[in-house]
Amino acid sequence: MEQHLQHPIFKALAGIADTHHIEAYIIGGYVRDIFLNRPSKDIDIVVLGNGIEFAELAGKHLKSKVAVFKNFGTAMLKYQDLEIEFVGARKESYRSDSRKPIVENGTIEDDQLRRDFTINALAISLNKANYGQLVDPFNGIIDLNNKLIRTPLEPELTFSDDPLRMMRAIRFASQLNFSIDEQALNAIKKQKERISIVSKERITDELNKIIMSDVPSIGFKYLFDTGLLQLIFPQMAGLYGVDIINGKGHKDNFYHTLQVLDNICETTKDLWLRWAAILHDIAKPATKRFEEGHGWTFHGHEDKGARMVPKIFAQLKLPLNEKMKFVQKLVQLHLRPIVLAQEVVTDSAVRRLLFDAGEDIESLMLLCNADVTTKNEYKVKKYRNNFELVKQKLKDVEERDKIRNWQPPISGNDIMEIFGLSAGKEVGLLKNAIREAILEGEITNTYDNALQFMLEKAKEFGLQPIKR
Ligand code: ATP
Repeated sequence: MEQHLQHPIFKALAGIADTHHIEAYIIGGYVRDIFLNRPSKDIDIVVLGNGIEFAELAGKHLKSKVAVFKNFGTAMLKYQDLEIEFVGARKESYRSDSRKPIVENGTIEDDQLRRDFTINALAISLNKANYGQLVDPFNGIIDLNNKLIRTPLEPELTFSDDPLRMMRAIRFASQLNFSIDEQALNAIKKQKERISIVSKERITDELNKIIMSDVPSIGFKYLFDTGLLQLIFPQMAGLYGVDIINGKGHKDNFYHTLQVLDNICETTKDLWLRWAAILHDIAKPATKRFEEGHGWTFHGHEDKGARMVPKIFAQLKLPLNEKMKFVQKLVQLHLRPIVLAQEVVTDSAVRRLLFDAGEDIESLMLLCNADVTTKNEYKVKKYRNNFELVKQKLKDVEERDKIRNWQPPISGNDIMEIFGLSAGKEVGLLKNAIREAILEGEITNTYDNALQFMLEKAKEFGLQPIKR
């Protein structure tokens, strides 16, 4: 802590506070992160009095521009790579229909009391008389040491006042690998329906932070066990459970999905690839059948899953853009490398996979590797070995045939010119025939070969070239 407090910014703020006889504190996440050794660039300053006026004094002193948010009573300035937010200490009270509190001026303890968790309510004094002194009225440091999320106030009231805090509790537990205090957990179970007054965007923000944590299953298990997941993302909660017929069960797809998600998080920080892991089996409940003599099947779950992606993205207010398309493509293709790895790996199958996956082939291979969750060591080894084989083949075929980002050697325009056709069925048929021949390895991926092949094929359709 000493080292952090040596930063010139704190010395400067302390000077201003003393000159103007204002009590000032560093508060919240920045203080928590000092003790957790997680360097942070966002600093919250709370003063007894007017936060905006203090920010303006600081802005003048530091020669920094101040952004004022009058409606919120806050102001922000940037100094070097730091973002510093100022607010006056406040006391809050809530009505039942809104997350927006009624606010009045308060003491430092009032301000700490309005914070969501004890670990987020730590403050450090900036005034000369007690510079660097920790103000911890709710035993936040003990909770940090015990890795515990606990609320300063009675938890049911805390979560009922602002139900977003339920998501935040679970998000912090997931990010920090902390437990949620038992009383707080019970309170979330009781207050879960209150999540309905929180905007979808806010909920998904927290969900994405859970997904971006090192071991997101921690957060998802809390979401499920409290009943929140069933409310905010029922399709995922629907993966839970095992049916047994004639003594035959299938794996629990909820816990399987969490395992795949944790696995992929070891290899990627890409939020959307992580989303693909979450959604890869999302249509398993909807496609589940018990077939006599065969057992449980989930035929077509990759197609149906891909079709479900846009609806889920829309419902969660995730972007309906190329990120969604990427997730959709991975859900659609997630079985392909596995199928390939189970059979003899032919060049044409590899070419088709490369053609369909295009530039997302590496992501797809990561997803498939993460999807191997069997506890059977022998099977794991077999799959991993086969994947290596598929990867090697992918490399060879890619080097030779350049199928990724494939542009057909003869375009639709070329075809129209050569045969004097206008756009229509024949052009499509010829294009497809060329593509199939290349993917099957009947011809190489070059203009001359494709032209030769096309001229032959055209005869079958009774087409004659008008120029050569
Ligand atoms: P991170 O930056 O990882 O999100 P943080 O704790 O800094 O963590 P912010 O959302 O920036 O999170 O909030 C700053 C501080 O404001 C928190 O540490 C907490 O004291 C308080 N706070 C934020 N949101 C709430 C809330 N919904 N209810 C009560 N206090 C809150």
